[in-house]
Amino acid sequence: MSRNTGEAKRFYPADSLKSPRFTGPYTFARLPHTRDLDGVDTLFIGVPFDGGVVFRPGARFGPAAVRQASLLLRLYNPYLRVKPFDVLNVADYGDINIVPSSVESTYQAISHELEAVHRRRITPVVCGGDHSITLPLLREASKAYGKLALIHIDAHLDMVDQHFSQKYTHGTVFRRAYEEGLIDPHSSVHVGIRGSLFSEDEISETESLGFQVITMRSIEEMGIEAVCDQIRRRVGGGVAYLSFDIDACDPSCAPGTGTPEIGGLSSREALRLLHGLAGLEFVGFDLVEVSPPYDHGEITAFLAANIIYEFLSLKALTKSG
Ligand code: MN
Ligand code: MN
Repeated sequence: MSRNTGEAKRFYPADSLKSPRFTGPYTFARLPHTRDLDGVDTLFIGVPFDGGVVFRPGARFGPAAVRQASLLLRLYNPYLRVKPFDVLNVADYGDINIVPSSVESTYQAISHELEAVHRRRITPVVCGGDHSITLPLLREASKAYGKLALIHIDAHLDMVDQHFSQKYTHGTVFRRAYEEGLIDPHSSVHVGIRGSLFSEDEISETESLGFQVITMRSIEEMGIEAVCDQIRRRVGGGVAYLSFDIDACDPSCAPGTGTPEIGGLSSREALRLLHGLAGLEFVGFDLVEVSPPYDHGEITAFLAANIIYEFLSLKALTKSG
């Protein structure tokens, strides 16, 4: 599982004991940038699109801020006891060439690139962008692996049918994924739901489609470990996809986001929640809704960079299994 550091490896972070972290180029965790996918098994991909938001924009600047915040990441994850960059060959793909004014053209661009990634059985770790980008990510993962067990960590269900007659927004993404048969609701779960709703039936309607909904109140009552047990039971032996909206975390830990809701997860609780998912078979991850113009002191970007580091560590655990 571990290697001696300093050994030549094509895909490995630059050594921060030899070159200062603030010397560029700025890639995720100082990994090599490449579009040549040979030898890569896990790929950091930026999707700087925020044309799907219905409130505050700015998530198009998410990937750049998260890369900048990721410069401080080190090689060993002491919680999960793994060196993700030793186990995996991770590279930074750069950003998908999205179309700022068009959800449809952006979806096409994402699908086109992600199809090639999945064809090679590379696991994408995607940094948004707003949550609307998750639909083409799920489409391509599902094309490669079949129906997915979705673990959706978010303050919001994102199960709205439409906003302003638009079917593809950051609030409709899992309704569309359900309708398109990309995810199996009976092995899927929405976690961290809280805040005011459009109607009193919003949660029960989602449950009636087969999803499990674990509200923030249930997390408080059950505790994180019990929540993780429920998620693991739910997913079973299924192929899992993890979608993490940064607004699942409390605005005190993640102010830089478009649709903040009070009373969310602390950074520590978010870490524990992720650690409790060790051992699941993940085929895709995304971290969305970081909006740097609303951030303060890079709090949100640092949290996001570390959550992505935990994704990589979770993936490394199953590879080194
Ligand atoms: Mn949200
Ligand atoms: Mn969301």
